[in-house]
Amino acid sequence: MSKKLSIIQLGNPILRQKAEFVEDIHSGSIQKLIDDLLVTVSDANGVGIAAPQVGVGYRIFIVASRPNLRYPYAPLMEPTAMINPLIVDHSDEIVKDWEGCLSVPGIRGLVPRFRAIAVEYTDRYGNLQKQEFTDFVARIFQHEYDHFEGLVFLDRIQSTFDIFTEDEYQKLIVDRL
Ligand code: ZN
Repeated sequence: MSKKLSIIQLGNPILRQKAEFVEDIHSGSIQKLIDDLLVTVSDANGVGIAAPQVGVGYRIFIVASRPNLRYPYAPLMEPTAMINPLIVDHSDEIVKDWEGCLSVPGIRGLVPRFRAIAVEYTDRYGNLQKQEFTDFVARIFQHEYDHFEGLVFLDRIQSTFDIFTEDEYQKLIVDRL
């Protein structure tokens, strides 16, 4: 049975550590971790989660873009586990948009990211996947990848004026819908 994991929050030193590459994707413990991360991100209305956020220092994240309460404008995609992901190329263009993080509750920020990226990752069945992502999904990928390097979105914010509370952010995006 997959179970919801507790999400560690900013200030916990595990969030500031570098994650390790996964060697045996087929192991029961890695497959179980993936199942648990899928349940955890869905339950939390997240659009992505990285293993370090549940206190596990492996290079595994879930990208699960879909419209929900926290991200009403997110595109819909099948939740996907990405193991040992890499950014192999990126656009010159950088765009700023809103991000939040399940490990940084109550805070949103405008974060600059590459608008488009080419990526490689191994899927949960052990197959190498090569894909290109743009805009919101590219943003999720870059945000989750940062968790492997011990970074959170606040580290990339250019001005403290770009930090909002969740309540003020919600007021702002109501006008955007
Ligand atoms: Zn995050």
